[in-house]
Amino acid sequence: MAVSAGGSTYTAKVCSLPTKLVVPVYTDGSRKEIPGIGLVSGSGVYREHKHAHLSLKVHPYGQGMLNTINRAELVALLIAVRHCRPGVKESIATDSKCSMQKIGMHLRSPSSTVDDCHRPLLEAIGHEIMQRAQAGDETILLKVKSHIGIHGNEMADKLANEAADECCMNRHFDYDLSNDYTQPFRDKFWFQHTIQVQTAEGPVETKACIRDLDDSLRKALHDKHKLGQPKQDSLYFQLWDKVQPFRVKPHSDALWTMPSIPESHKRNIFKYRTGQIWNKNIAFKRRMPYMPGQPIARDTRCPLCRGDDSQGHIFGSCMHPDMSKQYIARHDKAMRMSLVSVPYMYRNMRSDRLQRRFFKSVSCSKKSVL
Ligand SMILES: [Zn+2]
Repeated sequence: MAVSAGGSTYTAKVCSLPTKLVVPVYTDGSRKEIPGIGLVSGSGVYREHKHAHLSLKVHPYGQGMLNTINRAELVALLIAVRHCRPGVKESIATDSKCSMQKIGMHLRSPSSTVDDCHRPLLEAIGHEIMQRAQAGDETILLKVKSHIGIHGNEMADKLANEAADECCMNRHFDYDLSNDYTQPFRDKFWFQHTIQVQTAEGPVETKACIRDLDDSLRKALHDKHKLGQPKQDSLYFQLWDKVQPFRVKPHSDALWTMPSIPESHKRNIFKYRTGQIWNKNIAFKRRMPYMPGQPIARDTRCPLCRGDDSQGHIFGSCMHPDMSKQYIARHDKAMRMSLVSVPYMYRNMRSDRLQRRFFKSVSCSKKSVL
C-alpha cells in the first residue's frame, strides 16, 4: 500500500514493489501474561542502517480494552512513521496484517474506523503518512512473515519482548505512549457497561466503554440479560427436558403446518410455550389493565379464586369450580389421545434403549399397550 500526493486528493493504492527497496524499518508488538501482574505489552522498532540506525523499545501499555496486541503493533508503526526521513522513499515492515488493513481502511475511508477503539492511533498514523505524502514523500507498508528468519523482524520482535518484560519494572523506555491515545470514543455517545476491577482493596465495580459493536456488545448484553441461561430448576423446563429424547421431529412439529388446527389455536399454543398466556400477574408486572376498560391491575390475584394468578394457575391449580371442571376434562382428553399415540410413537423409536426409557416414563407395560 502506498500513499502519494496526487493533486488535491490523496488515495491509497496497491502498487508493485520497486526493485530496489531502501532498508525497511521493522516493527513488532508483543503481549504476554506475567504471573502476579497480568497482561503486559511492548513494542519494538528496528532498522539496520549505517547512518540511520534505529533500535527502539516503546511502552504502549493501554488499560482495559486498549490492552491489546493490536495497540502494541500500531504504536510501533506510529513510532516508525515518525522516524521516516524526509525526502526518502521509506518502507515500514510489519507482520501484523490486521494493523495494515486497519490503516488502509482508515486512509481510504476515515468514517469506516469510527467504531474502532484504536481510532486515535489510526488517526495519528494516518496524519503522519498524509504529511509525508503532501511533502512528496512516499511511504510503503510491507507485510512480512514472522519467525522465518528475517533479521530485522527478529530484532524488532526481540525489542518488543524486552519492552513487555520491562513494562512492570519502571525501566527507561525510548518512548512511553502509555498515557497517549487512550480516549477512544471521546466524541461520541457510546455504550458503557459495569465491570469488576481488581484493586488493592478488593474488587470494585466501575463503568467502562464496550470495545466494539460486534462481539463485545453481544457479550455485554448476554451477561446483562442472562441470555442463553434459562432457569433450569423450573418444572416446565424439567418436563420439556424429559420428553426431548422421545421427540419424533417430523411429527412433534407437525401441528404448526396442520391445516385442521385453526390459526388462533396455534397462536395460543405458541403463547403457552413461551409463557405469554395473559393473566393478572403479567398485567400487574406490565402495569396494564387486566381487562379492557378496567383500571390498571394492582395485585396478582386470580379474579375467580383470589389465588396467585399465573399461566400454571389457569391451566392446573385454579380452585374455582368452573376452572377445575375444565382442566379435568382437558387432562382426560389429553390422556386418551396420548394413549392412542403410544404404539405409533413406539414404532418410530429406533433403539431398544429409547423404547425401554419411554415405557418407564409412561408407566405402561409393553404388552398392554401393543
Ligand atoms: Zn384462580
